[in-house]
Amino acid sequence: MQNWHEKATRISFRNQAFINGKWVASASGKVFEARNPATNHLLASIAECDVEDVNRAVAAARKAFDSGVWSRASPETRKTVLVRLAELIRQHQDELALLETLDTGKPIANSVAADIPGSAATFQWFGEAIDKVYGEIAPTELGNLALVRRDALGVVACVVPWNYPLMMASWKVAPALAAGNSVVLKPAEQTSLTALRLAELAVEAGLPYGVLNVVTGFGETAGQALGRHMDVDCLAFTGSTEVGKYFLRYSAESNMKPVWLECGGKSPNLVFSDCDDIEAAADAAAFGIWYDQGEVCTANSRLLVEEKIKDEFVDLLKKRARDYQPGDPLDPTTKMGAVVEDRQTARILSYIEQGKSVARLVEGGEQLTISGSSNYVTPTIFDGVTNDMVIAREEIFGPVLSVLSFREEEEAARIANASIYGLAASIWSNNLKRVMRLSDALRVGTISVNCMDAVSNVVPFGGFKQSGNGRDLSLHSFDKYTNLKTVWIKY
Ligand code: NAP
Ligand code: MG
Repeated sequence: MQNWHEKATRISFRNQAFINGKWVASASGKVFEARNPATNHLLASIAECDVEDVNRAVAAARKAFDSGVWSRASPETRKTVLVRLAELIRQHQDELALLETLDTGKPIANSVAADIPGSAATFQWFGEAIDKVYGEIAPTELGNLALVRRDALGVVACVVPWNYPLMMASWKVAPALAAGNSVVLKPAEQTSLTALRLAELAVEAGLPYGVLNVVTGFGETAGQALGRHMDVDCLAFTGSTEVGKYFLRYSAESNMKPVWLECGGKSPNLVFSDCDDIEAAADAAAFGIWYDQGEVCTANSRLLVEEKIKDEFVDLLKKRARDYQPGDPLDPTTKMGAVVEDRQTARILSYIEQGKSVARLVEGGEQLTISGSSNYVTPTIFDGVTNDMVIAREEIFGPVLSVLSFREEEEAARIANASIYGLAASIWSNNLKRVMRLSDALRVGTISVNCMDAVSNVVPFGGFKQSGNGRDLSLHSFDKYTNLKTVWIKY
């Protein structure tokens, strides 16, 4: 077994911005702290970028784009570099997994099994895809040839959250680069470390200088500067609905750049008594709210269970809560680690307090102190929740499950859809007609039937309603990073 604590004593951190292939301090010289939320230990002091740094990064990205060194490189060349980058991510899997866990507090087992290999797979997939996508010839009259091409946009800015730092970056950066764009990436302030290492590995893989730049810093400054930049052609964002709306405003008040948003969710998990594997449904329901401390945009945070099996199902979940007791993220057997920071812990605890006044707390709800940090919250279940309660409406982004019950399928669908969000849903039932009726009715981007959080490079990912627009992953994500151009030739 790996000794991750021992490895952690030897790991080093990049802490400067990466602009035009060079490590640079912020123009102001300011830095901010990156702490390990599991111990509160200081990891690194990171360059605090602002408008001036963003201007430099965008200028470097523009220069690289206009030079054609990447934007006009053959699709095969781009493929070779991106596939090599995927391979380098795999070669550095342990290092990247450790950086991710130190920075986020998520269990090392999850970083090793999902975050890092998943990110590598995404670079591989988009690298391999790009020399296999064809343009179109439109059905015109003879004597005319109308070509419909897909052109790269230019400079793409990606602003990403702290819950899946490398993976969310990969979902945006991989297709944007594959399509020939230059990129400026801003990681979340809490989690800069893997984004910086990614930029370095990309250069090692053969990506020319200036094609991928990373500006570290805060959303209100560096993030806003990207959103308002007149020379950024596209803004791809993952994060909260609140901040997503800011980016729409920044765009409207600057150059009308397209803004692609993957935002929050309050995903329903519908469990029917005709599901033939209730144990599997309970395993998935536990995973769906407690995996990665519930800091997951698709977390199945509303459990809608048919009334006649509700009590039995809640008992099954309470048993599973034992497996998810929070512990040291560097212990490979830990299934739930630390919440990302004090502010988020306080937010989760305030929702728990709020929930106690209206619903029945039947499991967890406690804050624990481990290794000198109080960013640990036990797996929590509220029973007797109704959909008008705050804990059923708002995204908590923590290990807090709201249990609601229903009698009829229509009622379940109505409750499921009664949300400003529409990211994902799960259905547990062996009645095919019911599953198909619900698939028609549910207004969400992904429906997982008799499984949980179906996500893959081969299918689009994104939301309806205030969960966002556009789609990550799959060939559909090229719609975000390319523009259609018609060339009409008369002969
Ligand atoms: P967040 O606060 O919205 O931040 C996301 C990013 O936006 C960060 O890089 C952040 O920088 C930046 N930002 C914050 N305020 C900004 C502003 N005023 N102007 C410009 N940029 C700004 O989200 P988070 O707390 O990192 O992550 C949790 C949220 O992400 C949840 O709501 C979750 O549902 C959502 N999420 C969605 C998906 C999805 O695919 N749908 C996936 C993962 C997470 P700072 O670090 O300085 O705040
Ligand atoms: Mg941190």
